[in-house]
Amino acid sequence: MEPVAAIREAAAKAAMGGYSKYTQVSGTLSLRQAVSRALLRDQGLSYQPEQIVVSAGAKQALFNAFSCLLDPDDEAILPAPYWVSYPEQIKLAGGRPVIVPADAAGGYKLTPEALSQALSPKSRLLVLNSPNNPSGAVYTDSELSALVEVALDHGLTIVSDEVYQQVLYPPARHVSPASLSAAAFSATVLISGVSKTYAMTGWRIGYLASPDPDLIRAAAALQSQTSGNPTAVAQRAAEVAWDLPPEATRHQLAAFTARRRLVLDALAEVTGTELVPPNGAFYGFLSIAGCLRRWREEAADAFCERLLAEDKVAVVPGSAFGAPDAIRFSFAVADDVLKEALVRLTQALRR
Ligand code: PLP
Repeated sequence: MEPVAAIREAAAKAAMGGYSKYTQVSGTLSLRQAVSRALLRDQGLSYQPEQIVVSAGAKQALFNAFSCLLDPDDEAILPAPYWVSYPEQIKLAGGRPVIVPADAAGGYKLTPEALSQALSPKSRLLVLNSPNNPSGAVYTDSELSALVEVALDHGLTIVSDEVYQQVLYPPARHVSPASLSAAAFSATVLISGVSKTYAMTGWRIGYLASPDPDLIRAAAALQSQTSGNPTAVAQRAAEVAWDLPPEATRHQLAAFTARRRLVLDALAEVTGTELVPPNGAFYGFLSIAGCLRRWREEAADAFCERLLAEDKVAVVPGSAFGAPDAIRFSFAVADDVLKEALVRLTQALRR
C-alpha cells in the first residue's frame, strides 16, 4: 500500500518549498498541533502541543520513553507475546524486562491476576500494546480498566503503544488507557505514529505524548543529543496525514478486512494449529504446538527456516515474540501473494 495522494503531494511540495532546514527537536509546532487535533478527534484525549515529542517513528519514541523512565535494574512488565523491540530497548535502557506470558486460551491478553503476580518493589512500568503485534489482540474497556487499576495501585507508569489504533476489525474498538480516568491519563505515556494508519512505514514519524513535563523535557534532551529533529519533509507529510478525515484511509482497512478473511478461512481446519482471530493490526499469530508435537520439535524456528528454504514463504518464529510454539505472518501483502502463501503454508503444516 502507498500513502494517499494528498500525503505524497504534501511531501513533494515541502521538498520543493524550503523544508530543508533543522526544525525544533521535538517536531514543528504545526505538526504537534496536528497530533493534538488527531488525538482529540479520534480518542477525545486532550494533549497540548508542549506535551508531545515527535520522533523518527514510534520506535524512537519508545526508546526515548524507556531510556528516560528506567533507572538501572528497574523492572518493566511486558506481556508476551510482545513486539520484538520492547525487551531489547528495555535492556538497552538499563532496565529488566519481566515477561508475563498470555496464552491463546485467554486471547493472548494479560490478566490483572497475572500482572499482580509479576509485581515487585522494583516494578517501574507496564508496557501495553493494543491492538497487539503479533497477536492482533485488542483489550476491551473493562479489561483495560482492570489492568490500569492494578498499575495505578502500584504507582506504575503505563507505556501504551497504540500504533495500530486505527487498524481494527469491528466490533473491536480502540481504548487508550489514557482515556480511562484523570489518574490513568497522568500515568500513561502514549506512543503512536503514521506508519500503520497511513501506510507510511518508511517516512519515520511517530510520537510520545505525556502530561509529565519532566518526561517531555528528558525525551527532547535525549533526542537532541542522539538524532535531533525528525526529517523535515516527512514532518510536513505527517501533518497532512493526521488532518485527513477517517474516510481517506477506509479503503486500506477494507483491504485488510478482506485479507483477514482469507487468512481465517485458509487456516480454519489445519490440525495441530490454533489461530485466535486478530481483532486489530494485520498479522496472523498461529500456534503450531500440535504440529511441533507431531514433528517432535520444541520450537517453531526450524519450521520457519524450512518454509523459507523449501516453500519460499517468509514468516517469523514466535520465539522473537516470546511465544516459541507459534509463528507470525503479515497479511499486509497483495491478495494474490497472500493466497499463494497460504496454500504453501497450509501444505507445509500438513506434512
Ligand atoms: N510498535 C509496534 C507494536 C510495531 O509493530 C511497530 C512496527 O512494526 C512499531 C512500534 C514501530 O513503528 P514505527 O514504524 O512508527 O517506528
